[in-house]
Amino acid sequence: MSITHNITKYIQSLPPGVKLVAVSKTKSNEEIMEAYHAGQRIFGENKVQELVQKWETLPKDIEWHFIGHLQSNKVKYIAPFIAMIHAVDSVKLLNVIQEEGRRLDRKIPCLLQFHIAEEETKFGFSPSEFSQLFEPKDAAQLDHIRFSGVMGMATFTDNDQVINREFSDLHRLFEKLKTTHFSERTDFSEISMGMSHDYNLAIQNGSTFVRIGSAIFGDRNNLT
Ligand SMILES: *Cc1c(COP(=O)(O)O)cnc(C)c1O
Repeated sequence: MSITHNITKYIQSLPPGVKLVAVSKTKSNEEIMEAYHAGQRIFGENKVQELVQKWETLPKDIEWHFIGHLQSNKVKYIAPFIAMIHAVDSVKLLNVIQEEGRRLDRKIPCLLQFHIAEEETKFGFSPSEFSQLFEPKDAAQLDHIRFSGVMGMATFTDNDQVINREFSDLHRLFEKLKTTHFSERTDFSEISMGMSHDYNLAIQNGSTFVRIGSAIFGDRNNLT
């Protein structure tokens, strides 16, 4: 199926309140422009250098979302234009984003990445670690960060029960944080979960951003 066909299908079938992040990592400007002409405006990338090149050369009304692990020393390259950082996974990174936001006089939208999967390799805060590291008053001090919500990845498995449990854990955590750490932040409203193979389960569990790559653009010919 063509990119145009796939984008049209998602735009028409995602329920209201669920936004599509078209994950365009490793894909060419031509492929991105095909999705753009089909009406897509939110694109997700996970490498800073690749993202900056695409931002420089593609239309300026694209909303770029950074979906990968972000190194603190690279925040400065994307801070001026990034629409959402999906995977903030350390207090150190929060502090660096705050500093860049202050310098640019910008409030940078961020999602906190939580470790919900069984797999050990994924990045992200564990819920207990987060409440030890980060108190409600800390959120108030980070006034150049827009705390927009949470992000997570489920275990890569065919077992729907496992995926369901992990996504519902993340939803529950989101609801809890909304009443504790982020009770003053009305824009704490997004849950980024669900990829090509599990986005339906994510939507059933309250996802507001699905991050879909291969089901739109086809398989990536490398391992990123
Ligand atoms: C690559 C990637 C996706 C998209 O994965 P697909 O299986 O191609 O849909 C989603 N989220 C993150 C964090 C990714 O790195």
